[in-house]
Amino acid sequence: MMQPGTCLICGRTTETNYEPCSECAKHYEGDIFFLETRRVPSYPNQPVATIGYFANTQASANRYPTGNWRVVEEEKVRKLYSVESMEQIAKDRIVLTEPKTYRILFQPECRRAI
Ligand SMILES: [Zn+2]
Repeated sequence: MMQPGTCLICGRTTETNYEPCSECAKHYEGDIFFLETRRVPSYPNQPVATIGYFANTQASANRYPTGNWRVVEEEKVRKLYSVESMEQIAKDRIVLTEPKTYRILFQPECRRAI
C-alpha cells in the first residue's frame, strides 16, 4: 500500500507526498521515477498525489498511486517526451502515469517503449 509520508523504496518515514526519501533519491540520482496512478483511490481516504509531472494539471488531477513504480534513466525518458515536457520532468524527477501507459512502458507482454 503506497502512502504519502513513506518512502516508496525503503519505507522510511519522509516529510513529503509519495516521494522517495533523500537517501533513496540520492541513490537514484539521474533517474526518473514513474508511479502508476489511477483516478480512484487504492484504499479508503487515500490522499492524492501532489508531486510529479502531471500531478497538478487539470486534465490529470486526482491521481492516486497504486503502489507500482519504476525508475528509468533520464536519458531514456528524454526519448519519450517533448523538450518542453522534459524541462519540467527533469525538475520534478517523478512522472505520474495512467495504468495503460504504465503497462505499455513496463510490462513484459507489451512492446517496450524504452
Ligand atoms: Zn528511502
